[in-house]
Amino acid sequence: MALMTGEQYIESIRRLNMEIYMFGKRIDSPVDDPILRPSLNSVRMTYDLAQMPEYQDLMTVISPDTGERINRFTHIHRSTDDLRNKVKMQRLLGQKTASCFQRCVGMDAFNAVFSTSFEVDRKYGTRYHENFREFMLYCQENDLTVDGAMTDPKGDRSKAPHEQADPDLFLRVVERRADGIVVCGAKAHQTGMVNSHEVIVMPTQSMGPEDMDYAVSFAVPTDAKGIFMIVGRQSCDTRKLENSELDVGNSEFGGMEALVVFDHVFVPNERIFLDGQTEFAGMLVERFAGYHRQSYGGCKVGVGDVLIGAAAVIAEYNGAAKASHIKDKLIEMTHLNETLYCCGIACSAEGAPTESGNYLINLLLANVCKQNITRFPYEIVRLAEDIAGGLMVTAPSEADLRDPKLGPVIDKYLRGVNEVSTENRLRMLRLIENLCLGAAAVGYRTESMHGAGSPQAQRIMISRQGNLEHKKELAKALAHIKE
Ligand code: SF4
Ligand code: FE
Repeated sequence: MALMTGEQYIESIRRLNMEIYMFGKRIDSPVDDPILRPSLNSVRMTYDLAQMPEYQDLMTVISPDTGERINRFTHIHRSTDDLRNKVKMQRLLGQKTASCFQRCVGMDAFNAVFSTSFEVDRKYGTRYHENFREFMLYCQENDLTVDGAMTDPKGDRSKAPHEQADPDLFLRVVERRADGIVVCGAKAHQTGMVNSHEVIVMPTQSMGPEDMDYAVSFAVPTDAKGIFMIVGRQSCDTRKLENSELDVGNSEFGGMEALVVFDHVFVPNERIFLDGQTEFAGMLVERFAGYHRQSYGGCKVGVGDVLIGAAAVIAEYNGAAKASHIKDKLIEMTHLNETLYCCGIACSAEGAPTESGNYLINLLLANVCKQNITRFPYEIVRLAEDIAGGLMVTAPSEADLRDPKLGPVIDKYLRGVNEVSTENRLRMLRLIENLCLGAAAVGYRTESMHGAGSPQAQRIMISRQGNLEHKKELAKALAHIKE
């Protein structure tokens, strides 16, 4: 079975025995939980679209390893076409879910571990790449959703992992056995953990020789013994408990993040992809972050498409669509959004093969892509709120709209153009609220700032990759300066 249907995916998550906590209680299964279910629906879209002939070329590929059709989310990029199609697929999914669909972290971890483990083996004669390939084939054959876990809690930012007051603030190996290793620590802000079958753990930063126990990468099932997760709150999350589809804005889809604790988790030897080769921690981080910064040039653009569309619709409902400043604001939003897409496509088109044969994006351009993502969605949100008007944050609840006495009053006074029902106007405003301020704003706004690395992380990479010396030489040559 190389491709699962959406329904098979949902049932496969139901069969897992994950240890999940939220609001101080253990959750039986994320599948039936009203707060978590939208995040599964978003991942499910990666399965549903893969079944549809019109999306087959974007959503699936023929695996060069098995000859089977597999989901692109489990694919190793073998060309710049693959890299571009990845971004296009992410834009499509952003358009269909208007949220974070979460499956990309695993795809990006796949490609970063694939090439890095190859280079570690070449230097040390280890068998990490073979381990990874076996894991990869297992995920491809079973069409699994794999999470990618990188961000450690990090404690005191001025100290290296081994210098922390509490050694668990970076995930580490606490025991080495003949058959594997035991790890302790945590991964923070972990996207998509409750709706993944497996998780690939990677180190969080470059490391020195003294951080040997922290330079570790491996994969385990999300319900492995010793793993538990504490789900993060999102703005307006409890609206999902109120049985009002209208008030949630985007009731079907969403994302989720959690603090994931690894309390003495055993990892068998065949699931280890790095253990102690500290000089490769930086390479793994740089490549994973690079791929994920490319990803944002697809997913955020797709969500941006929805927000621009919502702003255009509400302008019509408000009777303001013909005003020249509204038209200009929509042009500006489109310009910003397509600039982000240009970055995602450019870093893909300029990709190149690694020693292992898979394709890596152009790292400078991927970091420029993500740096722009830390800014432009904020401006797009600002313009959407401008166009929407204040009613986006002052409108009464659906319960009031349905009330026999209050409903007709709301219908009368909160109507825009007469041909559009007040209910539809409120629906569109709630969608914009959801994207700008509500649960989806985690994925569209703040994740644009901090997801795939905070702005300063990209600036460091831009300074490293920008080749300032070459630019100085260009200037000196034209000025006829000989030193
Ligand atoms: Fe995918 Fe974007 Fe979510 Fe990252 S933020 S997992 S790239 S949808
Ligand atoms: Fe993200």
